[in-house]
Amino acid sequence: MSTPAVALSGARLAYGDRVLWAGLDLEIAPGEFVAVLGPNGSGKTSLMRVLLGLQRLSAGTVRVAGSPPGRGNRHIGYIPQQRALDPTVAVRGRDLVGFGYDGHTWGLGLRGIGERRRRVDAALAAVGATAYAERPVGLLSGGEQQRLRVAQALVGDPSVLLCDEPLLSLDLAHQRAVSELIDGHRRANDSAVLFVTHEINPVLPLVDRVLYLVDGKFRIGSPDEVMTTETLSELYGTEVAVVRVRGQIHVVGTHSELCEDTAHHGTTPLPGATAHHGAAGHHGVTGHHLADH
Ligand code: ADP
Repeated sequence: MSTPAVALSGARLAYGDRVLWAGLDLEIAPGEFVAVLGPNGSGKTSLMRVLLGLQRLSAGTVRVAGSPPGRGNRHIGYIPQQRALDPTVAVRGRDLVGFGYDGHTWGLGLRGIGERRRRVDAALAAVGATAYAERPVGLLSGGEQQRLRVAQALVGDPSVLLCDEPLLSLDLAHQRAVSELIDGHRRANDSAVLFVTHEINPVLPLVDRVLYLVDGKFRIGSPDEVMTTETLSELYGTEVAVVRVRGQIHVVGTHSELCEDTAHHGTTPLPGATAHHGAAGHHGVTGHHLADH
């Protein structure tokens, strides 16, 4: 048995008396792709922070590639939640990717400088960013900036890749391109991927297991095990329907169950859902109540 890429045992995270999750046992094997789903505030980003060593568990243990997590862990690549960079950010794309490499090395000798350039060039080429690598990142489009973030995360050949909503606000073509880059790296390096997402469908063919967090509870299993009407209704504590349409998974709550809350909430669909009107006789998808605890 190889060392698990990630091992959480009896893991609990609470802020004050608010328990985000408890009793979490999860071993992720090298090369495994785990999607992390759950409504806003269910603790998905906090889980990433635990694995990065930025947040201590309240109880239990965590290992990343066999070691306790810590800053600068060279086994970890991290794609943070996307925020558009300020147009005045003058750092070049090439530099941004270089920082990802430098995080893993100290004091480059002459040979190190050549190796750094080769690795940065390769990472830029892998994400198709060579053409704009010399431009200030603040002036690039959201999709271009996101490709650079992926290159920055991959340049150190991490064995664990943590991705926090990496497809958010990308168009379909870029969603596909970024998913393929992450998957290509996983296959080439046998890296484990933890992929936080509101929308499972763009990565569904890649997903080995789902960790679905809701309000202090969770389920872990294959998409077929977790993404069912029965399991998610139990998890949410209210009736939701999981509908499969042309190979895609849609999680819906009906209007009548949820409409009393619609005045207070936005129109975020349930995690794992697409806004999909009229699916299987449900008119109007209202995930508001559930999506925004
Ligand atoms: P998600 O990524 O699923 O939206 P987060 O992990 O960002 O959830 O946050 C989970 C909950 O924990 C949120 O309600 C958030 O406000 C709270 N939270 C996050 N970090 C802290 C902190 N350092 N101290 C107290 N509460 C926090």
